[in-house]
Amino acid sequence: MTNQLLPAVSFQGVTRRYGSVAAVNDVSLDISPGEFFALLGSSGSGKTTLLMLLAGFDKPTEGSVLMSGTSVSDVPPHRRQIGVVFQNYALFPHLTAAENVAYPLKMRGVGRAESETRVKTALGLVNLTDRGSSYPSQLSGGQQQRVALARALVFGPDLLLMDEPLGALDRRLRDQMQQELKRIQGELGITVIYVTHDQSEAMAMADRIGIMAEGRLLQVADPETIYAKPANHFVARFLGDCSILRVTEKDGGRGYEICGVRQPLSSQAAGRFDVVVRPENVTVHPATEAASGDIPGVPATVRDVTYLGAAWRVTLELPDRQLLLASVVRGDRMAGHLVPGESVVARWSPEFVAVLPAEKSI
Ligand code: ADP
Ligand code: MG
Repeated sequence: MTNQLLPAVSFQGVTRRYGSVAAVNDVSLDISPGEFFALLGSSGSGKTTLLMLLAGFDKPTEGSVLMSGTSVSDVPPHRRQIGVVFQNYALFPHLTAAENVAYPLKMRGVGRAESETRVKTALGLVNLTDRGSSYPSQLSGGQQQRVALARALVFGPDLLLMDEPLGALDRRLRDQMQQELKRIQGELGITVIYVTHDQSEAMAMADRIGIMAEGRLLQVADPETIYAKPANHFVARFLGDCSILRVTEKDGGRGYEICGVRQPLSSQAAGRFDVVVRPENVTVHPATEAASGDIPGVPATVRDVTYLGAAWRVTLELPDRQLLLASVVRGDRMAGHLVPGESVVARWSPEFVAVLPAEKSI
């Protein structure tokens, strides 16, 4: 039974070393019951290792893993009540879909009648009711992944771990499966830890996202916070296009100066900082409008204009040679008129600026 007050999962100072490499490095993280948590990071950042430590297929070098407040270090994988789905479905090719789904029940000694009922329910949940007698080779990639999901859920686990489960599917199918996974999670109220290297997938699905790099958990927050207020340069860049600007602190951290133009901050910054601005929050204006408007404009030169369909991606160069990306949408009066070499003015509102601890090289 899941205790609603305790974290469903708790990593406490968990490290896993392979020789001199710390695949997972001092990770502490609590995940709430019913939460959809995405672990996001590039290849080799330690995501799979962290899942394997939780599933019990591997042991931490240091630290402990708890489920509902109890250490699971002595609990073997099949007793942890965890369903796992991998990217490469890992179905048994010689078993039908229904037999694949029944497998975990067989391992647990569930009787035939109950097994049949449960398999039927699980196949229904993933919309494969009428494909139970098909073999994996007779099913599409998306259908095979549904079978793998049904197999992971059939024994009623408290926790579902998914390791890049949609990585092998094409874009359209992936979008469809994302929505379906959310529906299934909502229906079951199960806790999910979902590993992906795709930031848009993490954003679309998760209640909270944890960003990993080199075995460390860099930031944990809900999608909006992690996008708008990244904790450092790495997180800012990982979550989509942005410009990180070197600035001079002013007014005791209540503002900054860039290319001789004073800019306010919406909250006070401490220590040495850089600022990050997303392209969609930068507006481009004719050079003649530097002084007008509430927000101070920074002069810039257009360096590149790329048409992306939904918008034009404009690369601006500031007088101090820093580059600033702007997104100009159709309907904007500058849309379609900007050409490289043109002098313009760029503006961004303080509410859309995030402050990052300064890093030596940008
Ligand atoms: P991810 O899933 O984010 O791609 P992994 O957890 O698979 O990352 O790997 C993290 C790091 O640990 C990588 O540098 C990888 O080479 C290393 N690693 C993972 N498993 C092993 C292993 N069994 N032996 C040695 N090194 C490993
Ligand atoms: Mg992996």
